[in-house]
Amino acid sequence: MLVVMDAAATAEQIETVVRHIERLGLRAHPIPGAHRTAIGVTGSQALKDPLVVENFPGVKEVIQVTQPYKLVSREAKPDNTVVSVGGVDVGGNGVIVVGGPCAVESLDQTRTIAEAIKRSGGQLFRGGAYKPRTSPYSFQGLGEPGLEILARVGDEFDLPIVTEAIDHQSLQLVDQYADCIQIGARNMQNFALLKSAGRARKPVLLKRGMSATLEELLLSAEYIMSEGNYNVILCERGVRTFSDHTRNTLDLSVVPAIKRKSHLPILVDPSHGTGKRNKVLPMSRAAIAVGADGVLIEVHHKPEEALSDGPQAILPEAFEQLVREVEAIAQVLGRTLQPALAAR
Ligand code: PEP
Ligand code: MN
Repeated sequence: MLVVMDAAATAEQIETVVRHIERLGLRAHPIPGAHRTAIGVTGSQALKDPLVVENFPGVKEVIQVTQPYKLVSREAKPDNTVVSVGGVDVGGNGVIVVGGPCAVESLDQTRTIAEAIKRSGGQLFRGGAYKPRTSPYSFQGLGEPGLEILARVGDEFDLPIVTEAIDHQSLQLVDQYADCIQIGARNMQNFALLKSAGRARKPVLLKRGMSATLEELLLSAEYIMSEGNYNVILCERGVRTFSDHTRNTLDLSVVPAIKRKSHLPILVDPSHGTGKRNKVLPMSRAAIAVGADGVLIEVHHKPEEALSDGPQAILPEAFEQLVREVEAIAQVLGRTLQPALAAR
């Protein structure tokens, strides 16, 4: 259910509707838009008396949201959501490039790569301190010391940090140290973790599960938003198919499909999407061409020594070219490359 307010509705009128909804034991989510505010109504019971709300001052109409996801849908918010990650806008007219290693391995490694990301025009820095690995014997990440390295390096180069949380404990720490909480493909349907992310302060980057449908991805985003965190960025990272020439099959057609159904920004990760260094640049071009709000790229200065995902990491020089080409393609589409934060 969505209560659409008049363009001229006052803050007080909006507040009165919110209080009414909450008195009924439901949750009200005011969604300010470019032209009007809508109030999403969630809860396990439907609003029994929509006509009563329709007669409140300032209310334009009450509409039933037809999709299973509510707050995520374009019906709830016709204009695109722009999420600020440490001061960098994601989802506006400017596209972004997130770069960094798969895993934080040391201060030196992280600094070297961050310096290259900044110099090349990347806006955000990525790197895992908690790594969900297929084998328990593989490198699991540095944990909190890794977050300390990320925070220090992010500060040094004015690069906001995106890093993964894998459980409740790491989520609290990532919320403190980083600028954006990544929920990885393996946890896309960890509903308890999604709810915790929904109560966190920082924006959330939600990656598509390895075999998740578009609807399942959007419902996972709905879990986060239904808890009150409206700053969600989606990420396509490939799904598992019978094709074995790449690690996953990067499903770029999901980008325009999501743009129709949802107002949330969407990034594309061609690194995990292909698993192969030589496919990262062409698929990045394609991702921007198809309407993604940016790309997420694994970069390593010594990929042969990387503790995880070396075969898909591109070199810093290749990253620089990638940023240039992303900018050129964005311009063809009437978009720009989002400026990076200026050094303080
Ligand atoms: C990552 O981005 O570091 C990662 C582990 O990706 P995914 O969850 O998409 O596999
Ligand atoms: Mn990786």
